[in-house]
Amino acid sequence: MRSTMQDDQLTIGAVLRHATSVHPDSEVVTATAGGTRRRTYAELGERVGRLANALRALGVEGDQRVATFQWNNAEHLEAYLAVPSMGAVLHTLNIRLFPEQLVYVANHAEDQVVIVDDSLVGLLAPHVAELTTVRHVLVAGPEAASADLASLGAGGAEVHLYDDLLAAQPAAFDWPELDERDAAAMCYTSGTTGNPKGVVYSHRSAWLHSQAVNTGNAAGLSFEDRVLPIVPMFHANAWGLAYSALMAGASLCMPDRWLQAEPLVRFIRESRPTVSGAVPTVWNDVLGHLDRHDDVRLDSLRLILCGGSAVPVSLQRALQERHGLLVRQAWGMTETSPVASAGIPPLGVDEERAWAYRGTQGRLLCGVEGRIVADDGTVLPHDGEAVGELQVRGPWVTGAYYRPETDEQADAAGKFDAGWLRTGDVGTIDGLGYIALSDRAKDVIKSGGEWISSVDLENALMAHDAVVEAAVVGIPDEKWQERPLASVVVREGATVTPAELREFLSADFAKWQLPDAWAFIDQVPRTSVGKFDKKVLRRRYADGELE
Ligand code: ADP
Repeated sequence: MRSTMQDDQLTIGAVLRHATSVHPDSEVVTATAGGTRRRTYAELGERVGRLANALRALGVEGDQRVATFQWNNAEHLEAYLAVPSMGAVLHTLNIRLFPEQLVYVANHAEDQVVIVDDSLVGLLAPHVAELTTVRHVLVAGPEAASADLASLGAGGAEVHLYDDLLAAQPAAFDWPELDERDAAAMCYTSGTTGNPKGVVYSHRSAWLHSQAVNTGNAAGLSFEDRVLPIVPMFHANAWGLAYSALMAGASLCMPDRWLQAEPLVRFIRESRPTVSGAVPTVWNDVLGHLDRHDDVRLDSLRLILCGGSAVPVSLQRALQERHGLLVRQAWGMTETSPVASAGIPPLGVDEERAWAYRGTQGRLLCGVEGRIVADDGTVLPHDGEAVGELQVRGPWVTGAYYRPETDEQADAAGKFDAGWLRTGDVGTIDGLGYIALSDRAKDVIKSGGEWISSVDLENALMAHDAVVEAAVVGIPDEKWQERPLASVVVREGATVTPAELREFLSADFAKWQLPDAWAFIDQVPRTSVGKFDKKVLRRRYADGELE
């Protein structure tokens, strides 16, 4: 028997209609050099209609790709809404990709239009001539008129001022009826090996994912919230926070390019977000800033979502106990839209156990299923002991990559195991459904045939008072095959020796697990999305160039 329910499509257009008509009084606040600029969702809706008309007038038809090269700001949000709602496909370009990769992904996706922030013109301009399918470049932002527009025309693309295009168009747009399974947006993985791989999200996957993020087990947003996505909109959709906020009617606070602790803290105090999301390195910097400024309190924030890499319990404790900030760990990847699990401790456990649970990647959100699989393909029990690769599946998990061309990308088919996505993350699931990741498969350290968890060592090291950051990698060793090397950033004014750190770690680790090589550095190198870049560390220390 079929249901009697109406079959409305779950589209971004429906999110746009909802946010702008039911919550016209909510607002998007964008950070500027000296303060903020604000637009209500009613104004946002008008500008989104004008943008869709402008893109249509430039010849954007069907499922053509419109790329963005933008920070988190009001204009980027306009593209997030206009492009998918008109039936085209939003391609968020990662502004921190290496130039060759940027050119590769824009050409691979066959982007027709690029919307670029005024502050990023200089970064994009040297590469536009190589973007073979791009016909139009739109320069957005308050300073667009004074940007070097001529530099963007090198490849023959027409260059436009975004605000001028919008001003010339009506706010009403004849939004098409779309199929929820059509493509809405695409994102490329940051390409840790070889060329990045493309993931194409549907309207339906974006909708279901954002609703799941909106549940109380993840962000639990309502229209009383104000959401600050620090995680970039060019990386895994800012964890879905933009669409989640719009669905909830929550206001959005956009930090634009001001992502250092000091301006970020100033923006938080001015725009008063209740929920925010960013990778651990950002919160570590914020923690340092708060520790140095006794008088600064971020009292508007009720919840910090943190993920992208393991979130040390020591960081969570310091933010909560010293600054009253509650951190919730979330896990996911570009391929999973990205949020798949979030960590709230189980009921009825004592405080120490609760903290241990907060160090895990948490429980899967309804919609995503997970399992742990051994190297030989055996599906392992959920007992918190059996270690293997985490595999996931669900309606916001990708089932393929977009147009794999190279052998390496075709081999990405090896990423899929009978309908399950092989995440490349290694760990356990316990009887209560908590995922605890000990490593990424490619970061695992294998010493004398035994695994050493780099993540466990890092978390333990970062709990030492003198340590701000620590990253542990395996370096080649003749006898043991690999041995752990710890790179450590020491807190300003503090001193600590390898012997002291080994002693500190020996409370929790066997002797053979302790790092025997140490490097004291100023900052752990970061990837394009702010995670520790272990490739760089491995390369740097492979030859034994150590302290
Ligand atoms: P890239 O693979 O280029 O880093 P993603 O941002 O998609 O791009 O990264 C996804 C990966 O990030 C996951 O497979 C996992 O290794 C790591 N990750 C994300 N969240 C967490 C977390 N909470 N704990 C540990 N690792 C995480």
